[in-house]
Amino acid sequence: MAENQVTSVAVIGAGFAGLSAATRLMDAGCDVTVLEARDRVGGRVWSSRVGTPSGREATIEHGAEFVLSGYDELREIAGRLGLDLVDTGMSYYVRELAEHPEITTADIAAAGARATALAQSLEGQYTVDDVLARMREDEHLTEALRCRVEISAAVSASELSPGALSQVASFTEKPSWRVAGGNQSIALGLSGLLGDRIRLNTPVHEVRETRGGVEVVTSAGTERYDAAVVALPLGIIRSGAVRVPTADAREALLGRVIQGHAAKIHVPLAAPAPTSAVMSVPGRFWTWTAVDATGEVAPVLNGFMGSRAALDRFRVEESAEQWAAAARASRPDLQLDEGTATVTTWSTDRYARGAYAALPAAWEAADSAALESPIGRVHFAGEYLDPDFVGLMEGALRSGRRAAEAIGATGAISAPVAVEVGA
Ligand SMILES: Cc1cc2nc3c(=O)[nH]c(=O)nc-3n(C[C@H](O)[C@H](O)[C@H](O)COP(=O)(O)OP(=O)(O)OC[C@H]3O[C@@H](n4cnc5c(N)ncnc54)[C@H](O)[C@@H]3O)c2cc1C
Repeated sequence: MAENQVTSVAVIGAGFAGLSAATRLMDAGCDVTVLEARDRVGGRVWSSRVGTPSGREATIEHGAEFVLSGYDELREIAGRLGLDLVDTGMSYYVRELAEHPEITTADIAAAGARATALAQSLEGQYTVDDVLARMREDEHLTEALRCRVEISAAVSASELSPGALSQVASFTEKPSWRVAGGNQSIALGLSGLLGDRIRLNTPVHEVRETRGGVEVVTSAGTERYDAAVVALPLGIIRSGAVRVPTADAREALLGRVIQGHAAKIHVPLAAPAPTSAVMSVPGRFWTWTAVDATGEVAPVLNGFMGSRAALDRFRVEESAEQWAAAARASRPDLQLDEGTATVTTWSTDRYARGAYAALPAAWEAADSAALESPIGRVHFAGEYLDPDFVGLMEGALRSGRRAAEAIGATGAISAPVAVEVGA
């Protein structure tokens, strides 16, 4: 083996970032081993099916839901896996207001466009709150913009880079999609390609550099590889739950990335409904009904709450009750099943420790590149590293591709396989 040649690679984490890196490395001829703590692949992309009063099952997304504009990497991988994308029939970007129906979605879109233009004209270290403070809008409209940004970025507008206004919290009306049968089908499809190269139920405790290679420590012992891709969530890396090589500059950048906190709710519908999207400004949550792979509106109300303050206000991490009551109250237009609502929290999840990352004011693309730089033969991947699609499935997939390319893998993921989302 030539001195710098990499043949064996450990990929830590079987989320979208790790699976994307692992599949490309495998295709490039590397001997890949994926070590995943959970008993399933997909990480924060987790689909399941729920029964509904109509007798029809609905696929729900406990984590990532919307395939948004510009998801070229996700579309390419879905295509290669033979998976279809379904237009949800509603727009992630357009939400009516539960408490102020007199403010139209067109009013919000126009004010959002003004906020985005203002943010782009400002130079210096501004937050979304700074931008909103410079606008002379109706107070309810300004609060609706703030709410939209805080929900989508899952952090307070007082911390957030105005870049969010044109990314995760864009106000431009565009379609939004989901993967037919569940977004986790992508993870299942990639894991089907990887086969027994994936080891589930294998939490990693430490990744360390050695002379010319790396060591990966699990409860079963210490394994040696030529290189590693650490594809773990920000919350895991930053908490030190898994020890990985680092440096002062990397720690300084890691410390600036903002951890978003969010939760999802699902309530079965008792009667058919049209597509919809409604946002509760004081609640900092939104709920929607959307078309699924059958071409009809799925019989389930989906909801998302973003920001630490909102989760605490509704005590979401203790009980589903308060949020379920508020969600029902905000949707008098729907007949909701009286049964239990399903709430999924991510900040209490030991293998996520948060929802997804957001970037602070004055963050530059070069900061993301520096944070992603390998330390010796230890490479990093994950949604928190992508400057353009931070916090999103697309960002995770792109970062995985970059990590594989940095190790020497180029080319596309191949071979479609049949996949089915589990229970
Ligand atoms: C509520 C919610 C809603 C979202 N909505 C959207 C959306 O609509 N659209 C969108 O594009 N994105 C959305 N996202 C974001 C998206 O889910 C993430 O950006 C993406 O899935 C992150 O992928 P990743 O591979 O970086 O991390 P993860 O998916 O978290 O993968 C990391 C993996 O590492 C594993 N792991 C952790 N600790 C260890 C350990 N010690 N040893 C081994 N393995 C370990 C984890 O179990 C996990 O499988 C949402 C996320 C949440 C939480």
